Amino acid sequence: MKILLDIDEIPKYWYNILADLPKVLPPPLNPQTKTPVNPDDLKRIFVEECVKQEVSTERYIKIPEEIREVYIKAGRPTPLQRATKLEEILGTPAKIFFKREDVSPTGSHKTNTAIAQAYYAHKEGVERLTTETGAGQWGSALAFSAAMFNLKVTIYMTRSSYLQKPYRKILMELFGAEIFPSPSNNTLIGKKFLKKDPNHPGSLGIAISEALEDCLTHENTKYCLGSVLNHVLLHQTVIGLETKKQFEKIDEYPDIVIGCVGGGSNFAGISYPFLHDKIKKNTETEFIAAEPTAVPSLTKGVYAYDYGDTGEMTPLLKMFTIGHTYRPPPIHAGGLRYHGAAPSLSLLVKEGLVRVRAYGQLDVFEAAKLFAKSEGLVPAPETAHAVKAAIDEAIKAKKEGKKKVILFNFSGHGFFDLQAYREHLEGKLTNYNLVEDKIMESVKTVISDL
Ligand SMILES: *Cc1c(COP(=O)(O)O)cnc(C)c1O
Repeated sequence: MKILLDIDEIPKYWYNILADLPKVLPPPLNPQTKTPVNPDDLKRIFVEECVKQEVSTERYIKIPEEIREVYIKAGRPTPLQRATKLEEILGTPAKIFFKREDVSPTGSHKTNTAIAQAYYAHKEGVERLTTETGAGQWGSALAFSAAMFNLKVTIYMTRSSYLQKPYRKILMELFGAEIFPSPSNNTLIGKKFLKKDPNHPGSLGIAISEALEDCLTHENTKYCLGSVLNHVLLHQTVIGLETKKQFEKIDEYPDIVIGCVGGGSNFAGISYPFLHDKIKKNTETEFIAAEPTAVPSLTKGVYAYDYGDTGEMTPLLKMFTIGHTYRPPPIHAGGLRYHGAAPSLSLLVKEGLVRVRAYGQLDVFEAAKLFAKSEGLVPAPETAHAVKAAIDEAIKAKKEGKKKVILFNFSGHGFFDLQAYREHLEGKLTNYNLVEDKIMESVKTVISDL
C-alpha cells in the first residue's frame, strides 16, 4: 500500500532527457536577431550553474550532497502510495499508484528545483534572489529554500492573489521573504502600470517583468524561475527516479504514467526517467499529460516559436503555445494558467511519445472530491487534473478487463485552496469550455514562420 525508501536512497544524480531526445531540441532565439541565444548572456540573470545545466547534454548530472540534505528536510524520499480504496470504489482491476509530492513543507513538488537553485546561488556568492508568483506555490518553495541557504528573497506576487490568498503570503513571510503586490512601486515597470490603474490586479507577465527589472538593477542578485526551463525539469526528475526504485522493490512497472501540465515540470519529473526506458528500450508504457480546457496549449495550440511571457521580455521558445497574448479565464488551478509548455515536453508530444488530454474545471473538482472521500487526501486544483486522468484510465481498464498499473504524480495538496472547494460544494463551478475564437486570435500572434 505504501512503498518507502531509506534516506540514503535519495537519488545521487538527476536524469537529463536532453541526452536522449529523439530529435535535437530547437534552441531559444533572440527575438530581435532570430538567432540562437548565447548561454553566456543569460548569466547576468540566472545562477551560473543553472545556465550550464540548461544547455548540458550529459545524461546524468550529480546532485550535490548539500542539496540531498535539504531534500531530506523537504520530505524526500517521498512515499509511493496505492489508492486501494479508490480502486475498490471504481471496481477496477487496475492498480493505481501515486507519488506523494504533497509532503513537502510548502505543499508541492516545487521545492525540488527551488532548493537546487538556492544552493547554487549561495555557492556562487549571490546574496539575494528575485522571482514572481501567482497563486503562491512557487513563491513559498523559493522562500523556504532561500531560508535554508541564508539568502534574501524578494517576491512579486500578482496583486489579485496577494489580496485573495493571504495565507500563502504569510507562509512566505514566515520564511523571511520580502513580498510586493505586483504591480508595485518598487520598479519602473510596476509604477507605469500603477499610474494607469492604482488598483491594477496584476498578471504573471507583469510580475516576471518586475522581478527581472529588480534583478538587473541590483548587485549580487539573481532571478529564479519555477518551471518550463530545462534545468528546472532536470531537478524535478528526482521524483521519477525515486518512483522507479520504489516500483523495483515491489516488482512492478507502470503501464501508464500521468501528470498535470502547467509549464511541464512535475510531469517531466515523474515521467522522464520512464520515458528514458521507452526511448532506449522501447517499453510499451503510455504517457498522458493532463491540462485544463480553459488553457489548452497542448491540445489546441500550435508547435511554434513564441515568447515565454506576456511582456515579451524572454527569448523565443519553440513549444506548443496558444499565444503569449492569451488571457486565461480565472480557473482555480492557478499553476496551470500558462500559455505554453516546456520545449522538451513539447517536442515529445510532437513526436507522439506523450499523449495529451484536456479537462473542464467542474469534472476536475468532481474527481478531486471522489479522491478526497476515498483516499483522505485533498489534491491541489492543479493535481486534480492528474487525478481525473487516472480515474478515467482506471474506468477504461475496467471496461477492457485489463490489470493495468497506473501511476500519477500527486503534485500538491489543496489546503490553501479550500475557498475553491467551498465554491465547488456550493455548486458555483462550471466547466470553462474553451472560447475557440479567443484562442484562435491569440494563436495568430505566435511567430510561426521560424
Ligand atoms: C505549479 C504547480 C503545478 C504546475 O506546474 P508544472 O511546472 O507544470 O508542474 C502543478 N501542480 C502543483 C501543485 C503546482 O504547484
